[in-house]
Amino acid sequence: MSDFEFDFFVIGGGSGGVRAARVAAGLGARVAIVESSRYGGTCVIRGCVPKKLLVQAAHYAEDFADAAGFGWTVPPTAFSWPHLVAAKETEISRLSRIYQDLLGRSGVTVLQGAARFIDPHTLDVDGRRIRARQILIATGGKPKRPAVPGIEHAITSDEAFDLPVFPQRVLIVGGGYIAVEFAGIFNGLGAEVTLSYRGEQILRGFDDDVRRHLQEEMGKKDISILLGSTVARLDRQADARLLASFTGASEGALPFDAVMYATGRAPNLGSLDPAAAGVELAPGGGIRVDAWSRTSVSHIYAVGDVTDGIALTPVAIRQGAAVANNLFGPTPLAADLALVPSAVFSQPPIGTVGLSEAAALEQFAEVDIYQSSFRPLRHALSGRDERTLIKLVVASESQRILGAHMVGPDAPEIIQGLAVALRMGATKADFDATLGIHPTSAEEFMTLRDRQTRRRHAQ
Ligand code: NDP
Repeated sequence: MSDFEFDFFVIGGGSGGVRAARVAAGLGARVAIVESSRYGGTCVIRGCVPKKLLVQAAHYAEDFADAAGFGWTVPPTAFSWPHLVAAKETEISRLSRIYQDLLGRSGVTVLQGAARFIDPHTLDVDGRRIRARQILIATGGKPKRPAVPGIEHAITSDEAFDLPVFPQRVLIVGGGYIAVEFAGIFNGLGAEVTLSYRGEQILRGFDDDVRRHLQEEMGKKDISILLGSTVARLDRQADARLLASFTGASEGALPFDAVMYATGRAPNLGSLDPAAAGVELAPGGGIRVDAWSRTSVSHIYAVGDVTDGIALTPVAIRQGAAVANNLFGPTPLAADLALVPSAVFSQPPIGTVGLSEAAALEQFAEVDIYQSSFRPLRHALSGRDERTLIKLVVASESQRILGAHMVGPDAPEIIQGLAVALRMGATKADFDATLGIHPTSAEEFMTLRDRQTRRRHAQ
């Protein structure tokens, strides 16, 4: 008789952990899960879900303005930040309860508390000792704050969702997903937004045309983007505002009501002490795992943002399900992370799958580029000067589509479908042979004819 209270113990009640726990319980394992905060994790509580609601809220400003071109007279509008925060809170509380209920109904023992490793099979959860045969670490990530004088005055995305007062002048530091998404949110809701990024162009890693296009569109919305810019310090002024001192390309100091850092996220290890179990970390600080999400200790697994892998909810969910299936199901299968599509819910949003042009040219000597920038039909009447960009990166030799990128309304919805085509190995000829749906923006992907061939520069 084993002395293990559980077959599978999951640490972290976010997307990855919850999926793993439910799948394992469904396969007959004795499963427990522990969460130190609210069930739902980053995505549900302080990430994707509330962010998307705020993005939606922000977009109404343009929708009201655009309606005039279609004959509507919109009465003077007013926005209530406390209303939005409360409505968002109601929804995420509902979702958090659903997460917990689903776990309970799946037969999972649901615990609340902070877990700490005592040894490779034993955890302490707020004073209770629990021994488990297999363990999954799914504790997610948390915002990083660089060591800048006055950083304690700054907020991160964690606090941005629940600010007691809506800030009229906002500085966002960083040029990644979260920075551009929140720049769009605060701007749409009426704030004057400055984004300070240390590099030459926002969204490093995305296709350069996509980066350029979004930057231009953000500029048209009067978001001030400071490139090559570093915040040297933050000082609280007598009027309670924060004075940000800039160095680099934009020397000087400006006052803000709120300064938000979106300078990346770190694995959330809290008091877990994985070293006590012998679990090793990768150089970046995340838990090192193999393709099966196995850590350096053979019965301890890790998925999602706490690892050194891709920090996206659907990735964590896929990994969590794979771990549970491999441990307790009939057919072991590693999570297939080929061609992970992703979106940035900027305004306008980005959807992308596959390789950027630059990444493609690292793997292929020659690629064909097809791209088009156009004004969506809606703006023929609204009068808004907003353009949509679509781009295909194609392997010249095989004609296989390597990457599909879009900046414009509904880009995430459109790219989700194209991701299936790319996974199936679609070629440019397959796109050409597919009839468009007219009139849509998506059909432009089927009618791209103007080819530009790009070759890798000789080293
Ligand atoms: P990112 O890694 O995307 O961006 C971090 C940004 O901060 C980069 O522009 C980086 O610059 C800059 N930066 C890093 N360190 C410093 C520093 N010390 N001083 C100044 N600037 C700095 O992180 P995010 O926080 O935006 O998001 C974290 C992850 O969460 C994403 O990578 C993504 O996987 C996930 N996410 C996904 C979303 C989605 O799917 N829509 C939405 C939000 C998050 P540089 O480029 O020079 O390194």
